[in-house]
Amino acid sequence: MHPKVMVVEDEEALSELLKYNLESEGYEVEIVDRGDDAELRLRETVPDLLLLDWMLPGVSGIELCRRLRQRSETEGLPIIMLTARSEEAERVRGLATGADDFVVKPFSVPELMARIKAMLRRSNPSKVSSYIKIGELELDKETHRAHRNGREVRFGPTEYKLLEFLMTAPGRVFSREQLLDAVWGHNNYVDERTVDVHIGRLRRSITRGKEKDPIRTVRGSGYSLNDKF
Ligand code: CA
Repeated sequence: MHPKVMVVEDEEALSELLKYNLESEGYEVEIVDRGDDAELRLRETVPDLLLLDWMLPGVSGIELCRRLRQRSETEGLPIIMLTARSEEAERVRGLATGADDFVVKPFSVPELMARIKAMLRRSNPSKVSSYIKIGELELDKETHRAHRNGREVRFGPTEYKLLEFLMTAPGRVFSREQLLDAVWGHNNYVDERTVDVHIGRLRRSITRGKEKDPIRTVRGSGYSLNDKF
């Protein structure tokens, strides 16, 4: 399950930038450009986090925040407010209205991403930790499903475990023995060549057509998942 983030922002260039960055980190993003539209939309669906601009047409961010805190469905919704520098003095009022955090424009995108992640980790720990993305591969530890370029990858439970393990440390080389321990357990009677067989199956299931094989064989050492592909 991808965490859902709603972005309420009327500056299109900014909302597009946020959408792009959030999606590349695995979030599902919905953009709304008016405060009143956001209020209606939030009656239909509640995201995992709300990025809310202060100055908006329709209903202002601050007023929307106040109203959301009065409804039981959204009283606990994590809200990060985006404000312009000139409005920074209004911070206190915003926090009193119930925003969880404030980010002043112009802000650094990586910093905002880090704050979003930290806030989601506090409010919904399982959602943030269950999702890994490396290169074109996405893996959800909760549902044991994986996707490459949006296509679902089908494989057996052993291949899943191998991939999950390799994805926890991209770029690192694991010996066959380490992979055996991690995937089959310490008390296994499995031959090291079994690892090669399952790596072969994993490669075939995650690589289609002209896609690059993300698993690197390191002669004499073992295997590694490339961190960029
Ligand atoms: Ca605005």
